[in-house]
Amino acid sequence: MSSAEVARQAGISPDQVIRFDTNSSPWAGADLTALGPLALNEYPDPTYAELTSAIARYAGVSAAAVTVGAGADEVLDLLAKAFVGPSDPVLLSDPTYSMYRTISELAGGLVTEVAAQNWQLNRRSMQEAASQARVTWLSNPNNPTGELLPLDFIAELADATAGLVVVDEAYYEFAGLTAAPLIADLPNLVVVRTLSKGFGLAGARVGYALSGADVSAALAVVRPPGSIGSVAAALGTRTLADVAVMRARVAQIGKLRERLAVDLEQLGFPVRTTPTNFILVAGAPGLAKGLANKGMVVRSFEEGSAMSGWVRVTVRAAEENSRLVDAMRQWRLADDS
Ligand code: PMP
Repeated sequence: MSSAEVARQAGISPDQVIRFDTNSSPWAGADLTALGPLALNEYPDPTYAELTSAIARYAGVSAAAVTVGAGADEVLDLLAKAFVGPSDPVLLSDPTYSMYRTISELAGGLVTEVAAQNWQLNRRSMQEAASQARVTWLSNPNNPTGELLPLDFIAELADATAGLVVVDEAYYEFAGLTAAPLIADLPNLVVVRTLSKGFGLAGARVGYALSGADVSAALAVVRPPGSIGSVAAALGTRTLADVAVMRARVAQIGKLRERLAVDLEQLGFPVRTTPTNFILVAGAPGLAKGLANKGMVVRSFEEGSAMSGWVRVTVRAAEENSRLVDAMRQWRLADDS
């Protein structure tokens, strides 16, 4: 739901709405004036050479290993377009990021879901099913459970299939673990990342894939030439030049995450923390609605899903988290009465 609609229903102004549901960064921070004059009369460089080399430097790979896109979402979609054909078997663990199913089905794929057990990916069943799959999607850490799979499992899975194994590392900056070094030995592995989370540029739409030569070549065929605007590309390049700012913010989110978890536990809410910028909180039915009525949006899950009864909460700035804690305290008191 848009912030304007949340505000309308809560009877507040849109700038009072706080998004705890998007796993974005609390700091606006991007200074467009620092970019200087850009030739916006011209199309972006279709090779995105500067952005690509900034990503390559950051990721410690060659520019040939990098494919850029308008957010991780476009990169994931390009992978589906390049590798999933009509009736191709596609594999994912449930629950995971919903986009994998959508883009696989749009490409004509037939999705098999392996149910996680206690929010933990069923490694044995995934391993077995992967051997038949054209594409296996993994979110590592997993949105929404926060589970972080070890690299030896990912390597075994990629080794056991001729299909593509996509490791979506949207939360890499928080978790600090990457499958990228495995690609040298396992060319059917591809890592997808974004500047939307740790780097705080969700509004700019910059994401990328790290892959071997064959996957890069396949992506080049389906990648549109100009889906990242010049402003976003320049902002991405500039942001990657100052990794220290990102690291400081990621460290701060880590501290704020533990603080928020403790505060909510003290109110009596069961909490599961994750190596990302979100936590999971158990709340009786009505919690998400109660918070939305105060302009605070958390991610709730469908009845009957593995996550039902829990909400996913993005860690935001200290003052915003305090407002959430206060609202949840009030909700708890009202709920108990
Ligand atoms: N993958 C995962 C696992 C995500 O959680 C998200 C953002 N919600 C994305 C991809 C999409 O990121 P982007 O903003 O780069 O499209």
